[in-house]
Amino acid sequence: MINIAIDGPSGAGKSSIAKKVSERLGFLYIDTGAMFRSLAYKALTLGIDIPNEHSRLREMLSQTHLTIERIDGSQHMILDGCDITDKIRTPEVSKAASDIAVIDFIRTWLLNLERSLAKQNNCIMDGRDIGTHVLPDAKVKIFLTASAEVRAERRLKELKEKGIETTFSEVLAEMKYRDKQDSERKIAPLKKADDAHLADTSDKNFEESVELILDIIKTEIK
Ligand code: C5P
Repeated sequence: MINIAIDGPSGAGKSSIAKKVSERLGFLYIDTGAMFRSLAYKALTLGIDIPNEHSRLREMLSQTHLTIERIDGSQHMILDGCDITDKIRTPEVSKAASDIAVIDFIRTWLLNLERSLAKQNNCIMDGRDIGTHVLPDAKVKIFLTASAEVRAERRLKELKEKGIETTFSEVLAEMKYRDKQDSERKIAPLKKADDAHLADTSDKNFEESVELILDIIKTEIK
């Protein structure tokens, strides 16, 4: 199987770019952030204090069934039989996902799911630690980034389109909180793999970014 790893900070455009590139290549797109978001969503609905109630989180995991379904080509997250895809993009879930992602047993639980999906499919997997940790032997690795302001602008637009009311400064603050926590955590921090291509999309629009990533992949795969 050919596996492609795309990592980078929040709002760099990983999901939308990786989805488009996957369609063009006929690969499966796997959004691992959605997996962390799904577990964070469940913890929030159970009222678990994520940093301080690890035994409740362990118990939650033992009673959690998380699967991925493809509906019209899009990845849907099915948590305990319910489709929660539309519920995991709020700023509250974003923060909780970053909080839950620092916990070792959460990462181990998801690692099995991530690796088994990659084993069975030609895929583009996006996240924070795919090239460094989840798929260290990925055929192509890309670290996608853009300036914090550009990322916050893009995220604000996305949230507004989904009808979520927020402001530029709120989005920027939440993004900086996650960038810091994701980069500084002890386990599998957000980091460019030594053998990853660096792709900065600050000055590129969506189509140009897609072409940039396709060029990198085609050069590597030939
Ligand atoms: O990519 P997305 O913004 O949906 O990810 C939500 C959170 O999940 C990130 O802020 C990060 O803390 C965590 N995450 C991670 N490792 C991944 C993917 C996401 O730690 N591979």
